[in-house]
Formats: sequence, structure tokens, C-alpha cells
Amino acid sequence: MSGSAQRANEHLATSEPTKAYSFEVSSAATCDLVAQVLRQTYPEADCELDFTTPLELLVATVLSAQCTDQRVNAVTPGLFARYPDAPAFAGADLTELEELIRPTGFFKTKARHINGIAQELCSRFGGEVPDRLDDLITLPGVGRKTANVVLGYAFGIPGITVDTHVGRVARRLGWTDNTDPVRVEHDLMDLFEAKDWTIVSQDLIWHGRRCCVARKPRCEQCPVSQWCPASLTTAGIDQ
Ligand code: SF4
Repeated sequence: MSGSAQRANEHLATSEPTKAYSFEVSSAATCDLVAQVLRQTYPEADCELDFTTPLELLVATVLSAQCTDQRVNAVTPGLFARYPDAPAFAGADLTELEELIRPTGFFKTKARHINGIAQELCSRFGGEVPDRLDDLITLPGVGRKTANVVLGYAFGIPGITVDTHVGRVARRLGWTDNTDPVRVEHDLMDLFEAKDWTIVSQDLIWHGRRCCVARKPRCEQCPVSQWCPASLTTAGIDQ
């Protein structure tokens, strides 16, 4: 058992007695309890992308599509040294930009988006990343997921980020029946106070990467299994 799972189980041993599945899955109390246990399980959970400015986080998040954060972090130091601001990205030679980000995959599309984002930032936002979701999602290749990451971690504005991990774990926990990310986002917004949106998203991402993995969720090690209706049925599923 991992140290984090151990800590969580110790917490559980001193909190609620286990009485499997005698709860209302999506009650506020249950959701808060699960969120608390995940918080204690992953105290180090944070955005795993390296950045120092909103622009760097926006670019890193674009690069993280279909790529590990570790690989993105290996690429971005050289990238940000070569292109330190939006005008630099806007004026980039696309071939050179593609080569610098090639290790992250889908590099032609990502280069086009980053270049387009930078041009939009220069022409419409004074070269700065806007701090409004409605503005962010007008940028090339920027959806609600990317926008909420930037808002949450670069600006401290809470948002629910729904990636594949958040959607999967939330469905297994019974917090949503939806597969559409926007609907999942709104279901989770209804379940938690706004101040908790960013950290709840991050903890679900960490839990989905480390325990509630897609094909073989590790329910026997899971610190929230006693509150999870899927723990009885998830052997080998991918939902
Ligand atoms: S009990 Fe299993 S399905 Fe439920 S959250 Fe934990 S790992 Fe995922």
C-alpha cells in the first residue's frame, strides 16, 4: 500500500464506521467526505506542469494534450527561453516551433494553435492572457478544460477541470451520469462550493492517475471505496 493510501486508511479508521453502500451517493455530506479523504490522500496534489506565468501555463496545457506532464516539462524550459512572451510566439517560425515541441506529439497542430493563440493575445488582449473563461475559450485550440486549468492555477479563479480522469472517477463515484465534459463540469459545480472546485478537480485527476485507473481500478487499495458504488463492479471495466 502506498504511503498516501495508508494515511487515508488511517483517517478512515478514525472517522466513519464502514457500512457498505448504505449512503446516498451524491449527498453533499458524502461528496464532502470523499473530497476530504482524497485531499488527505494526495496532500502534494498540484498542477504538475511547470510554469511561471499565465502564458507559460497556457502553452504547457496546450502541449499536454495526449502527452504526459513530465514530457511537457522536459520541453518547456527550452521553449520558453526561445519564446519568452506572446509577441515572440506570435512571430515564431512554425517549422522551428514544431521541432522544439515535437516530443509532445501532434506537434504540427499544437504549433499552429500556440502560434494562433499568441497572435490573438497580441491583437485582442494586449499580449496578455485574459482571466475570463469566455475570453479564453475564443483562443485557437483552447477549450473549457484548458481554460479552467489556466484560471485555477495561474489566476486563482476556481474552476472544475474535466479531463478523462475526472469524468471517469466522478462517474464511478456516482457523482454524475454524464459523459459530456460540460455536463460533468456542471454536475460537479452543483456538488461542491466554488472555493473547492480547482482542488477537487486536481484530487480527482491524481486519484484517476494513481488508483482509479481506467482499465483495472485498484479498488482494494482505494481510500474511498466504502463510499463508491462502482467498487463492487469495476473489475476490468473502462467507463
Ligand atoms: S473504489 Fe474503485 S472505482 Fe471507486 S473510486 Fe476507488 S478505485 Fe475508483
